[in-house]
Amino acid sequence: MRRPFVAGNWKMNKTVEEATLLVASMLPGLEAVKTVDRVLCPPFTSLMRLAGMLASTEIGLGAQNLYWEESGAFTGEISPLMVKEFCKFVIIGHSERRRYFGETDETVHLKVKAAIANGLIPIVCVGETLEENESGKTEKVVERQVKKGLGGITKEEAAQIVVAYEPVWAIGTGRAASAQQANDIIGGVVRYNLSVAFGRDIAERIRILYGGSVTASNAREFFKQTDIDGGLIGGASLKAEEFSQIVEAAA
Ligand code: PEP
Repeated sequence: MRRPFVAGNWKMNKTVEEATLLVASMLPGLEAVKTVDRVLCPPFTSLMRLAGMLASTEIGLGAQNLYWEESGAFTGEISPLMVKEFCKFVIIGHSERRRYFGETDETVHLKVKAAIANGLIPIVCVGETLEENESGKTEKVVERQVKKGLGGITKEEAAQIVVAYEPVWAIGTGRAASAQQANDIIGGVVRYNLSVAFGRDIAERIRILYGGSVTASNAREFFKQTDIDGGLIGGASLKAEEFSQIVEAAA
């Protein structure tokens, strides 16, 4: 039995004061649902404040990115050592990072290794673009992303990670994949390739999330699917009431 997992990706939203207010308003709803792993991923600038607010709760904190080196002349970057001061989780390879900041399967791989080496749990994002989807390349693209992003990690390390299947065309568009479509790719491509790489037992333990226009109204349909273990939620994670409802749906 895989424990449900729901993470909120706040992207580049909320000042520290705004983040404080948002967390205060969502805490009671999130705390009430004990059977789901609940994780908030605000911008770096809010991590320290939120780490304090969440310290006495079971709600986890995640960063949205990191760099693979531990320190040095890498202006503007944040290292795993810095992330782990406040976080247990880190999102890696989000499609917005791949699209706007030139991340590749190779850099995703370096980041995954660095996160694991520092005791962080990576939430590794994979997913095809609209063009790839329409030209029938979904399976190939997702397989490549899983294999390259996660290649070379041990079975023990693999058992800790979380993977998020996020079709790029569904992110922030209001056009979610159908639950059936998402489950087919998650089971047939993501989990299948995890089992080829790490064995069936490990693949059955890895939490795989769906992300892309999940709302309080469609969440239940996704979470009912056999291979979908929760969600990576963007826009709806910025709304206290709606995010709590999504977490409840996962329970
Ligand atoms: C995301 O940013 O990972 C995401 C899934 O966004 P949204 O829920 O807004 O589509």
